[in-house]
Amino acid sequence: MILRIDRLGVELPPPSTPDPAGAAAVQELMGGKFGEMSTLMNYTFQSMNFRFRQGARPFYDLIANIAAEEYGHVELVGATINTMLTDVDLDDAHDDAYKQHYLFGGKGALPADSHGKPWNGSYVHSSGDLVEDLTHNYFLETGARSGKLRVYEMCDHPAARALTGYLLVRGGVHQVAYARALERLTGADMTKLFPSPRIPTDKIPESQPHIAQGLHLKLYRFSPQDYREIVAVFNGPHPETGEDLMVVDEAPEGFPPYDLPAQPDVFAPDYAPEEISEIAQKLRKAAGLPDHVTGIVANDGNGLVGKVKDKLT
Ligand code: MN
Ligand code: MN
Repeated sequence: MILRIDRLGVELPPPSTPDPAGAAAVQELMGGKFGEMSTLMNYTFQSMNFRFRQGARPFYDLIANIAAEEYGHVELVGATINTMLTDVDLDDAHDDAYKQHYLFGGKGALPADSHGKPWNGSYVHSSGDLVEDLTHNYFLETGARSGKLRVYEMCDHPAARALTGYLLVRGGVHQVAYARALERLTGADMTKLFPSPRIPTDKIPESQPHIAQGLHLKLYRFSPQDYREIVAVFNGPHPETGEDLMVVDEAPEGFPPYDLPAQPDVFAPDYAPEEISEIAQKLRKAAGLPDHVTGIVANDGNGLVGKVKDKLT
């Protein structure tokens, strides 16, 4: 079971100038072959299918635990796309990729790549053979980082930059984790065998704060009780910096997401959002909930009702 926490792994900026073409490019990081839906589903299926777990526990724990982080990356990519699509005008709905966002998505992220092609299960490689799957995962993380760097260079929207600056650092940790797992299992040093992208994250401004906080060294383990044996594999020096890798037994602190404004032109969440808000307020009152909305968002004013009304009046 996934423990769900209503925070994002990195702080995203509020909506600014809409960027539908950029949002279409960011879709590659969602539903492309090397996107976050692929990493999530690869590690989820490999961990579900993992036989003889007690005999190979540290490797099972590693794959299962990284799957949980990838869920959060899917959420981050989605939040970025939604930020970039906020307040896009109908007049801008010319290119094909944005048409998908407008017509199907209601200015929301889609489980599809940068061409609008749906993500599909053939992107999952779960062979049952641990060495084969770990090798695939190393290749997947390597390709995923190349894709992130390309999106970083294509998109100068601040949300896309914040996203890719963070994911490049976290993808680097996963790349190291799978390389180290293979090294422990077979003796092969993947970091020497393959010309994997030597991405100079220390030169990317949006990556620097995360590196300063040591996020390039940490694997988070935030299951209340489980996946404790990762430490047997994820240890030793980082292959690029020589610093010690570490497993952190808590969730990242995280950041509250922006409450993105209603977009009544695409009925998101309705053509008259204030009506839904009035119904919700009545239900909340009947349930004995406090006047102030309890959920936490980055732009918390006095709850959603006022925000929606301000937007529409
Ligand atoms: Mn990821
Ligand atoms: Mn990853």
